[in-house]
Amino acid sequence: MENMETVYLSLGSNEGDRHANIAAAVDGLRKIEGVEVTSISSMYRTAPVGMKVDAAPFLNCVAALRTALDPLELLDRLEEIELSLGRHSKELYADRPIDIDILLYGGHIVALPRLSVPHPQMAQRRFVLEPLAEIAPHVLHPVLKRTSSALNALTADQQVTREGLAHA
Ligand code: ADP
Ligand code: MG
Repeated sequence: MENMETVYLSLGSNEGDRHANIAAAVDGLRKIEGVEVTSISSMYRTAPVGMKVDAAPFLNCVAALRTALDPLELLDRLEEIELSLGRHSKELYADRPIDIDILLYGGHIVALPRLSVPHPQMAQRRFVLEPLAEIAPHVLHPVLKRTSSALNALTADQQVTREGLAHA
């Protein structure tokens, strides 16, 4: 199809059954009309960043999509999934059953009140870059003009654990 873009999303959960929440969100992505989910990274466990000290650890992953939905249409669909999974608070850094962020939308730059793409914090966050580099090591950040794996190499001081690894 014309205008199909490759989109990368970050999914995170730190409340309730985190594995079930991520699985339900991925299920929700697969049901969006006009979206094809093309890959899902491994699951990664991450200490919460910038939240209250006793916040639960996050489970994070990255999903790749192909879609012709425009960025705001996609954001609407993602917010519906968040709400359907019990996202109650819009409070920044609050515990959340699910958070879905748009990391990259093709090579496009979006600067709207509701939506900034590339996601403004993605280049500093290993919990985003590690799973992104797992499924798309060569994808370019359109502003920084560096690949996900090159950016990830700069975040080696942050601890992120891939689930299923014995010692990591
Ligand atoms: P956060 O993801 O920072 O923890 P929220 O999920 O509550 O916080 O999102 C706050 C707002 O960020 C949302 O209302 C949304 O409109 C906006 N936003 C801006 N850029 C993006 C993006 N790339 N992906 C998702 N939401 C975004
Ligand atoms: Mg969000």
